[in-house]
Amino acid sequence: MVMRRYLYITLFSLLSVACRPTPVEQHLEEIPKENLLEVLLQGNERFSEDHPLHPDQTLDRLRDLSQGQHPVAAIVSCSDSRVPPELIFDQGLGDLFVIRNAGNIVADYEIGSVEYAIEHLEVPLVIILGHTKCGAIGAFVEHEHEHSHHYSEYIQKIIDFIDAEEEEQVLQRGTIDFYEKAIEANVLHGIHELKNKVPLVSELIAAKKLRVVGAIYDVETGRVRVLENLD
Ligand SMILES: [Zn+2]
Repeated sequence: MVMRRYLYITLFSLLSVACRPTPVEQHLEEIPKENLLEVLLQGNERFSEDHPLHPDQTLDRLRDLSQGQHPVAAIVSCSDSRVPPELIFDQGLGDLFVIRNAGNIVADYEIGSVEYAIEHLEVPLVIILGHTKCGAIGAFVEHEHEHSHHYSEYIQKIIDFIDAEEEEQVLQRGTIDFYEKAIEANVLHGIHELKNKVPLVSELIAAKKLRVVGAIYDVETGRVRVLENLD
């Protein structure tokens, strides 16, 4: 009996090693563009399972890149210190073109930055990345309460921006999952803004040269969940 138990344990250990994602041997720019999202999610799996590879984070890599950058994805994420895209996707220098602000809102400067990444750096993937426990969205969720906190002018501008999003306005207030839904609605707004305001985005999507996806990062588990059916 004991022997059998050990056999099972050994088999299980072997299997879990075999099931781990394969180490990154290629630079991200060498990976076919249709596989990029999957490869980034594999990086997130390494991060969330606590065995990151920290690829391409050396001074040598930076020197190689000094002649020019070829990032493979543009990511709009929150400034929250728990959400650094390079770490949570386990990537390195030159891989990701990152735009961050409190609340990962997509306004004029963010649209311009993503446009630059698509048009001039030819990134084939854009991710609008929200996250759980987002303070900016939390402030928006709270702001309708009578005794809610009063913010300074510029913080209030962020809250007002989120408040004005059509995707937020259609949500039912006061439900148990309002906060969670508001985080998703804000991501959805970013995607709609890019598609509506940048004709090139729709053209490239139609030509299958660009993917724009929304995702939510969980600050407790470290996992990124891609939002499906966003259109
Ligand atoms: Zn946040």
